[in-house]
Parts: sequence; C-alpha cells; structure tokens
Amino acid sequence: MSSLQSISYINELMEKYNLSFKKSLGQNFLIDRNALERIVLEGDISKEDIVLEVGPGIGVMTKELAESAKEVYAVEIDQRLMPVLEETLAGIKNIKLINADILKVDLSFLANKKLKVVANLPYYITTAIIYHLLESDLDIERMVFLVQKEVAQRFVAKVGSKHYGTTSVTLNAYAEVELAFTVKPVCFIPKPKVDSAVIVITPKEDVQFNISLLQKIVKKAFLQRRKKIINALSAKGELCYTKEDWSAFLKQCSIEESKRPDNISVKEYISLAFCLENAGVKE
Ligand code: SAM
Repeated sequence: MSSLQSISYINELMEKYNLSFKKSLGQNFLIDRNALERIVLEGDISKEDIVLEVGPGIGVMTKELAESAKEVYAVEIDQRLMPVLEETLAGIKNIKLINADILKVDLSFLANKKLKVVANLPYYITTAIIYHLLESDLDIERMVFLVQKEVAQRFVAKVGSKHYGTTSVTLNAYAEVELAFTVKPVCFIPKPKVDSAVIVITPKEDVQFNISLLQKIVKKAFLQRRKKIINALSAKGELCYTKEDWSAFLKQCSIEESKRPDNISVKEYISLAFCLENAGVKE
C-alpha cells in the first residue's frame, strides 16, 4: 500500500482539513492498491487518452490515472475536498480539477474528444451517472466503474436470470457490459456494508433505435414481470394500446405472447422498439 493510500494517511489528511466522510455523497475511499491498479488497468489507458474521473475524493485514483493518461479531468462535487486535492495532486500538470456535480456540469468542451471514464462511483447515484454519460454528447470509448456488486449483477444479468430487469435490458442495448472483478469492503475507508464490483462498459457505436421508447416498453413489461408479456404490455399506463395492437407488434417481432418479460432478450426488446417506432408510435 502506498503512503497516499494508507488509512493513517487518509485520516491525517481528513483531520488536517477538519473533514469527515460524507455518507450522503457516497464517500467510501479506496485504500487497496491492488484493486486500484486493476481498475486503472481495466481502463486500458495510454498516453494519448483523455480520461474523465467522477468523484476523485482525495485523489488516489486520479494520480494513478494521470501517470498513464495524456489528461485527466476530475469532477468532484464536494467543495471541502478541493484544498485536499490541491495538496495531494500538487505539481501534476495533466490533471484538471472541476468542482461540480457530474449530473449538472457542462462538459461540452470535451465533446469532440474521445474519452475514457474511470471512477469509484458514489453508490447513491450510480445508475443516474451511467445513463447521464451514455445519453450525453460525449464521445466515450470505454467506462470502468467500481459499483455495488448487486448493481453490477443487474447490469450484466442475462435473459432468464433472477437479476435480469429494466437496467439489464436498457444498459445492454446501449453498450457491452462486463463484470471484471469483485472488491471486498475492507478495501475502502469507511467500509461499505456490501461487496463491490468493477464493471467495464463499452458503448455501442451506432445506436439507431429510439432509446426512450425502449425504456418505456421495458419499464412497462417489468412492472409485471410474472405476467405474460401480452398482458403486461396491454395493462393501463404508458403506451396504452389495445391487446390486439400489442399482439400484432409482438407477432411482427416474432415474440411469443405467452413469454414472461424476463424471458425476452435485449435484441427482442430492441426489435419491439423499432416496430413501434415504424408504426408511428411517439415516445
Ligand atoms: N475516487 C475516490 C476513491 O476512489 O477513493 C473517491 C470515491 S467515493 C466512492 C465517490 C466520490 O464521488 C466522493 O469523493 C464524492 O464526494 C464524489 N461525488 C458524489 N456525488 C458526486 C456528484 N454528483 N458529482 C461529482 N462527484 C460526486
């Protein structure tokens, strides 16, 4: 473990700046060098790469990323951490610190550059951050995130499995998603209550279908995951079409009406979104 990552070093820094870990901001700092190095390796970063880091904390991962990358942009919401980061990252010229909320900050100055995103994400907004980045105008080649293991399992869940649900379908429609390895609570300070896992997300180049239509279909289907798809989709609520209409849509996509929502593949949901769009359904 390097000095920057030892528990006593972090505690000293927190004391020096009179700081406490903010649970509400998901502040569980990584203290395990092995996990840190493996995460950076998963980023597949070279000296040509521009890296975006969400939530640098006290800058442990930021420093490591800067050694491999051309430039690192680190967006941290917690104003209290800025002086700490200025100390821990002093003299490293290829790091730009941005004190902002990743969900609100204007990153349009990065829009024409290929990016890699690497982060130990704040767990309270993991999914929001991932979708926000995927739906942004940023040209992201690869994302490597440390997230709660349970969330990672949902992200990579295969059709028919118990974790398969709305996020499995919508995320896998946008991107290839892989679970790289798991990380134990002892690797953090303070220790989270649950295991964590590293996921690698590679956005698909050409997403042609209407994403928000797909999201609505999938959300409606999984609201009643035990029902047959025909009944789940014909229920009241969004996308309110008759059973006959849904029957025709499903037939066009060669999806059996009696299948359950969790037995329908990502590809089949995408074809259903195409089918509705071609029929002039607006999201
Ligand atoms: N990268 C550090 C590490 O690995 O030790 C800290 C990771 S900690 C899990 C999450 C970090 O994200 C915290 O520093 C927290 O303050 C920051 N954060 C929380 N919400 C944020 C947001 N909306 N935008 C930017 N940073 C955020």
